[in-house]
Amino acid sequence: MLEHERVAIAVGERSALPVIVAVHSTALGQAVGGCRLWRYRDWREGLEDALRLSEAMTLKCALAGLPLGGGKSVIALAPDSELSADRRRAAMLDLGDAVDAFGGSYGVGEDVGTTAEDMLIARERTRYAYCLPESQGGSGEPSEPTAVGVRAAIGVTLERAFGTADASGRRIAIIGLGQVGSRVARLLAIDGADLLVTDIDPSKRRLADELSATWTDPEAALRAEVDLLVPAALGGILTADSVPTLRCAAIAGPANNQLAEDGVADILHARGILWAPDFVVNAGGVIYGCAMEFEGCSRDDATARVGAVADSLCAVFSAARERAITPLAAAREVAEERLSVAGRLLKRGRV
Ligand code: NAD
Repeated sequence: MLEHERVAIAVGERSALPVIVAVHSTALGQAVGGCRLWRYRDWREGLEDALRLSEAMTLKCALAGLPLGGGKSVIALAPDSELSADRRRAAMLDLGDAVDAFGGSYGVGEDVGTTAEDMLIARERTRYAYCLPESQGGSGEPSEPTAVGVRAAIGVTLERAFGTADASGRRIAIIGLGQVGSRVARLLAIDGADLLVTDIDPSKRRLADELSATWTDPEAALRAEVDLLVPAALGGILTADSVPTLRCAAIAGPANNQLAEDGVADILHARGILWAPDFVVNAGGVIYGCAMEFEGCSRDDATARVGAVADSLCAVFSAARERAITPLAAAREVAEERLSVAGRLLKRGRV
């Protein structure tokens, strides 16, 4: 089992909010991962999220072949609390201090609940805040390249499940119409998919109408009889209880940590449901950001790199089929091999 290298929990001196930073691994390079600003029952639940999400970032970067490690930060809000503009700014300054205390071993970007503008505020306190607005020379909102990568992964998944990557006429359910889910919905609508969509935010129904998609509630979408399920909200929706009730043939979506626990991959496998590992599917944003911010690529070149998501997923599905293991096991093996090679090289002082 991989262990976290460093975790810090502090009460922000300006915002009085819990600010959590978790660095899972720097074996391949600087740990990167977004900051999640979300409501939790208490800070321990936020810590749990940071620990799991940072490990997923390690796997994601390793599988995408990036010279980066895995980290994540969480600013934990109390249930039902609202942030004033002033307190939000205070929270981002606190985040900047917390990130800076890691001395460059962790770089923050946006995630659920945070924006490129928030990163600009964090940047006032640390140079290790990335994904700044494009107007400020940053790589901007990562959900666009993430969605491009998700669409590519959906093509690979359909191809494996049905023998063709064509989404036209395929019944596809999307859970969550946020930054990524809405973009994926638009791309699939252009390709003629028969969409069933949902969100806990009723205002998202407008997009359903615009795309001529069927609107339903989250529970019904999860259990709908569809060719493909696209989890695009928060994690944990695939559980030992929910998987036996699913009626989809395959699952590929951007939501991080879709499996409540690793054993759920075996239940999916036993049921013949093809699951594309989330940390492979949703790597487009970090591939794009790395190309733009660390390698100085143009937007077009960085976008072209996102095609690597399809290659990684093909390799994972092929390895899983050849060795009769789950896609999760296959993806972990590839990632852990890359991490252990990097660890050995580090020990020998070769990098
Ligand atoms: P977002 O906050 O913009 O959208 C999430 C959407 O899900 C919101 O519209 C929200 O109302 C909805 N939602 C929340 N709980 C729900 C539920 N129980 N049922 C239905 N809808 C629900 O977030 P995003 O940036 O679109 O990210 C979506 C997922 O993809 C997250 O898990 C995120 O970690 C992951 N991800 C995002 C990126 C990125 O580039 N933004 C990259 C990698 C992974």
